[in-house]
Amino acid sequence: MKITLAETAGFCWGVQRAVDIVLDVSKKSGKPVFTHGPLIHNNQVLEELESKKIHEYKSGDIGSNTLVVRAHGIRPEVLDELKSKHKNVVDATCPLVTKVHRAIKKHQDQNFQVFIMGNEKHPEVVGLLGASKDRAIVIRDAIAAREYPQTFDKICLVSQTTQNDDDFEATARELKLKCKEFKAVNTICEPTRSHQIEVVDLALNNDLVIVVGGKHSSNTVHLKEVAERQGTRAIHIETEAELKKEDLLGVEKVGVTAGASTPQWMIQKVIDKLESFEEANKSLLYKFSKFILNTLVSTNLFTTTAFASIYLGNHIVSKTPVDYNFFWSVISIVFALHSINQFSLEGKFDRRSKLTPKVYEFVRKLISWFSFLLLFFGVSFGFYSSSIGSDLKGFGIILFSALCGVLYGWKIIPINWISRFGFSSIRDLPASKDLSVSFGWTLLSCGVPLAYSSGNLSPVWFLLIPFIFFIVYIRSAILGVRDAQGDRIVGIESSFKALGKNRSKKLVFSLIGASVLISLCLFLPFFGVSPVFGFLMLTITFVSGIIAHLYFQRILPANDLGHFLLDSQFVLPVFLYGILKLLGYA
Ligand code: SF4
Repeated sequence: MKITLAETAGFCWGVQRAVDIVLDVSKKSGKPVFTHGPLIHNNQVLEELESKKIHEYKSGDIGSNTLVVRAHGIRPEVLDELKSKHKNVVDATCPLVTKVHRAIKKHQDQNFQVFIMGNEKHPEVVGLLGASKDRAIVIRDAIAAREYPQTFDKICLVSQTTQNDDDFEATARELKLKCKEFKAVNTICEPTRSHQIEVVDLALNNDLVIVVGGKHSSNTVHLKEVAERQGTRAIHIETEAELKKEDLLGVEKVGVTAGASTPQWMIQKVIDKLESFEEANKSLLYKFSKFILNTLVSTNLFTTTAFASIYLGNHIVSKTPVDYNFFWSVISIVFALHSINQFSLEGKFDRRSKLTPKVYEFVRKLISWFSFLLLFFGVSFGFYSSSIGSDLKGFGIILFSALCGVLYGWKIIPINWISRFGFSSIRDLPASKDLSVSFGWTLLSCGVPLAYSSGNLSPVWFLLIPFIFFIVYIRSAILGVRDAQGDRIVGIESSFKALGKNRSKKLVFSLIGASVLISLCLFLPFFGVSPVFGFLMLTITFVSGIIAHLYFQRILPANDLGHFLLDSQFVLPVFLYGILKLLGYA
């Protein structure tokens, strides 16, 4: 069975913006945050937000907590009332909805009778009606327009942002007959239009279209209708649990799309379920390999192996003998810090996990404790290794890295100072995750060997240090793209969120270009690097480029495979070089 995922499936720009605003306020204030109405029409996302103390506002005083107006917008007088009652009100109304508010006011001022095509009970339409001071007329569709009993001098038609272009045109044709002067302002938003164009394409090229999203989400319901209009069977599900094997009987090609309030991780779960139907027929070897891949990636074991490969690779390039005491010390620290930041500080149940919340919590605690123990072991072993050589420089670097790594997610700024500084931990700073990982990996993989071989300083380190920094930054930035496109709760700590898609893409490809140049320089005889290893290093930059392209184009799924491929590019060169050396070819 061929599965095709719509390119723009999932969170639209406006919903993503509202979620980001709420998470940002929650993070900066460290207090519960309230939203005016459910933030989005998706029960699973709402549950996740609840677990982060982001609640729907019911009534009463919220003190100094913040109230956020959701993407749908609200009636202007309600917004004014909220602002007069509460100290902190943040308006996260989608700018494309605000544009409709403005269009309504402008045309009313020009004496047009405004018609709004949409669902009068939908919160966005309630807000639009408010913008018209309840003078606009809401109609569902062309039939309602035809049957409307009255005529007017001037009519202006606008639309709820999540309606359909064909319906809008049909409604406009009917209303034109009811006035002397007619104006249609098509306010259907571009993300909705892209979703609908894609669903037509999916319907025309597949036997079945699966639409994932909240049952109350208007744009999700429309997607199903648009697919069915092409004569293709379509089903609307909220979660993967509703998907039955019988739905797929006789289906060879299935298209998957999702409403604007559906996170990517829910879409991924649906795709996983579809694949699991297929996997029942897959070999034991395939299932076993997939299990091993997921385990290696999710436990940070493969990430640590990638770091170990960089560490050993630096020794191969610089021809520095490996001190295995230090090696085990830094390996333990890298594993521990990644696990602490992933399991201990991020906390909370990860809904993408296949474990139940209870089991997840148990595993999380177990890994957290083990990681702190390992960190202690790594630092102590670093001290022991340094003291053998009676030079504490290596230990100093290890201790500094360990402290920075632990402090990364810790709230180091007191709550009442947060608004003054604008952040509470290092993690809240733009691109901090990518910068910290690159800085930490470079410090441990270059700084420690340099510390214990200071008598043998090779000029190749001048190339190696920026090269390692760049390729680790690229790796981390690409993982950020994967996480953001998978709607993991990623904040400005990732370059993707801090810089936006276009600028982070430019940055990643510029760094890849710089890494290619550096690795070409390594071929100069002056540096004495083995041409075989130089070539293997060059492949890292090309593999990074390909994976980055696949993620920016959303071709690779937001699962563990991309992570595995990214880290393999560091592991394979060292592994292959070892084999070639054993065989006498390097
Ligand atoms: Fe904004 Fe359109 Fe998304 Fe509504 S569907 S929040 S108008 S981008």
